[in-house]
Amino acid sequence: MTLTDPGSPQGALVDGFGRTVTYLRLSVTDRCDLRCVYCMAEHMTFLPKAEVLTLEELDRIASAFVTLGVRKLRLTGGEPLVRKGVMGLIEGLSRHLASGALSELTLTTNGARLVEFADRLAAAGVKRINVSLDTLKPELFRTLTRGGNLTKVLDGISAAQAAGLSVKINAVALKQDNAEELPGLIAWAHGKGCDITLIETMPLGEVEADRTDQFLSLKDVRRELESFWSLEDIGLNTGGPARYVRVAETGGRLGFITPLSHNFCEACNRVRLTCTGTLHTCLGQEDSADLRAVLRGGASDADLIEAIRNAVDAKPKGHDFDVARAQPAVARHMSTTGG
Ligand code: SAM
Ligand code: SF4
Repeated sequence: MTLTDPGSPQGALVDGFGRTVTYLRLSVTDRCDLRCVYCMAEHMTFLPKAEVLTLEELDRIASAFVTLGVRKLRLTGGEPLVRKGVMGLIEGLSRHLASGALSELTLTTNGARLVEFADRLAAAGVKRINVSLDTLKPELFRTLTRGGNLTKVLDGISAAQAAGLSVKINAVALKQDNAEELPGLIAWAHGKGCDITLIETMPLGEVEADRTDQFLSLKDVRRELESFWSLEDIGLNTGGPARYVRVAETGGRLGFITPLSHNFCEACNRVRLTCTGTLHTCLGQEDSADLRAVLRGGASDADLIEAIRNAVDAKPKGHDFDVARAQPAVARHMSTTGG
């Protein structure tokens, strides 16, 4: 058996608490063409190239997970579409879609390069993408992203839809900046046929902005929305921290990701790999396994699989976030771990 042949049963990846891991988020780069204030410092020091997994290494690790029963693969970053050669990686990984081993290959992107990539993504079998967008105000967008161009993202979303991709919008809820705009953003997304998910800020990595100031509880947002909309709970559960409702007035779906105010860990089905090959089995804990060292130490496919199994076996029971703490609960930036 080879790792490019995930048809051979290896047994599911089950952790020490009986949760089956079926979803891998793969960060393909720590770099980005934007500098969102809640995500990155203004002057980031990016990793030297030698520390970042090559495209071949990324494919090998992802394929090992597919062999172990992972059904859903999401590429993220940093900005996945700034990684040189990323389309080759995606086109390569799409063989697991063709074989039926993978049910979904997708990505989370800031959308700024979708005009260029949308058609090739669709041709590679990508069906849905998440696009992060916190505001429809060009000036505020420029400020929040430290220099981004809103038009590029809006054109990117249109290009993705024209290519047949379904687009979900992710918006970080920020008390100072976009709280009042959220109903308008939701209505806009639904008007374009997009689901939208609101995210609470998470204390990941040192950035200049004060997150306690920007923290906006989605419980409060929901209460506010319910003063003029009917939100109907829908039982959609993706195994992650999102809870979904349907907005009766717009007909669209709205998700709430509340990692700080809810415990979503019991049903967690996912793990994350950084672009340096560090496997994090919990977003909110420091536990990790260095798969790059395993690979570069000349591991066989069987060694790699054993290293993954051991790491998943030790997946922590739950997270440890607290936005009120002075220090981030976890020192790494979201752009390193992959959102
Ligand atoms: N560059 C891509 C993008 O922006 O969609 C993918 C990577 S980005 C790190 C993934 C998601 O994480 C984005 O939706 C972003 O808004 C979110 N994010 C980044 N830092 C965050 C933080 N501190 N708290 C909550 N969400 C954060
Ligand atoms: Fe870049 Fe995404 Fe982080 Fe914004 S949220 S700086 S687009 S990685």
